Amino acid sequence: MDFYLPEQRSNLSTRIREFVEKEITREYAREIDAKDEFPDALLKKLSSLGFTRVNIPKEYGGEGGDVIDTMLIYEEISKRLPVLAWALGNILLYGNEIITINGNEGQKKMYLPVLAKGEMKFCFALTEPNAGSDAASIKTRAVYEDGYYRLNGSKIFITGAGVCDIAITFARTGEEKHKGITAFLVPTKSAGYQARPLEKLGYRGSNTCEVFYEDVKVSPEDILGGEGCLHKGWTQMVKLLNTERLVLSSCALGIAQAAFEDALTFVKERFKGSSEEAFQGIKHRLVEMATELEAARWLAYSAAWKETQHLECAKESSMSKWFSSETAKKIVLQGMNILGGYSAAMDFDMQRYLRDVLILSIGGGTTQIQKNIIAKAFGL
Ligand SMILES: Cc1cc2nc3c(=O)[nH]c(=O)nc-3n(C[C@H](O)[C@H](O)[C@H](O)COP(=O)(O)OP(=O)(O)OC[C@H]3O[C@@H](n4cnc5c(N)ncnc54)[C@H](O)[C@@H]3O)c2cc1C
Repeated sequence: MDFYLPEQRSNLSTRIREFVEKEITREYAREIDAKDEFPDALLKKLSSLGFTRVNIPKEYGGEGGDVIDTMLIYEEISKRLPVLAWALGNILLYGNEIITINGNEGQKKMYLPVLAKGEMKFCFALTEPNAGSDAASIKTRAVYEDGYYRLNGSKIFITGAGVCDIAITFARTGEEKHKGITAFLVPTKSAGYQARPLEKLGYRGSNTCEVFYEDVKVSPEDILGGEGCLHKGWTQMVKLLNTERLVLSSCALGIAQAAFEDALTFVKERFKGSSEEAFQGIKHRLVEMATELEAARWLAYSAAWKETQHLECAKESSMSKWFSSETAKKIVLQGMNILGGYSAAMDFDMQRYLRDVLILSIGGGTTQIQKNIIAKAFGL
């Protein structure tokens, strides 16, 4: 077993770390959070440096990277500005990855080279007001009429829906619960498409929206994978799940790492010269934070390694998703505790880590849903 990152991956990690250090000052990150502003300028810089093409196959203008490369990027960015990792993630996951694994040849040729250059943004529109964890209960409907599908319905909590070019929209095309769902590539400039941003606690700037479809006309060619993929939306979505859970795990790792580092820096300053007894409890808490974080990291990257080897890893990626987001929550709460009153001050980042980390156990399937999946794998 080799636990070291090969040179190519470690170069990628260094490149993204340097970007974060140079381009995202703490003040800038706080400003984006305070203004609830989509980090468009930073996203453009990331694409100019090639980070939008990392996981696109080489024949379509990409670098041919895998889920571990994506996770390394997410983790580094999430240490400073988690919402930027999500903005980039909408491209890497809901653009590059979805089209690579589910698109037909025409769609790959049309979208991947443009996505590689960072000239297009996607979002993933599945959740509805009455269909979250039970996503297959969606009611948004696509009806075939005069050579087109007409979409009617609404979605909620769709990240990036107001700033993207294409909304991958899951809609009901048949009555069977799972086998009656189709994924459509809906251009957001289509008449009848409307996105309304929601104000929320954390991941501010993510442009998470309510979306309304009123007689939105979509061509059958814009079914993800082509006309032959009518009613195949659920199967296509399932193919994405391991990767989604793993990259969300790496977001949690990044936030937890930042909380640990800030707490460590704070303690070194504040408790300089304190007596050993006063200091010991704090030291132990820091040690626990670091150890739990390391355990979560190994779980995430070992599951990701399985994914890269095309081994079955649905159980492990669900384990990683719930464990890393719940562990990160615990670590940030410890950080809040260690910083005392400063943890609540807006010119310290710990309060933002808390607001952001709370969301990670919801998006991409809640902790309870991950546990249901794992229990099912045990035959329960
Ligand atoms: C910031 C943010 C961004 C998001 N971005 C997107 C996006 O880009 N695209 C998208 O499609 N969706 C997105 N979502 C939606 C997210 O995936 C859903 O919120 C999530 O799946 C939970 O659904 P729900 O909110 O309807 O909660 P519910 O499903 O109603 O769950 C409520 C509670 O009940 C529990 N519960 C539900 N069912 C079960 C069960 N069977 N067993 C045990 N417990 C259960 C849940 O764990 C939870 O605690 C986003 C959400 C947030 C908060």
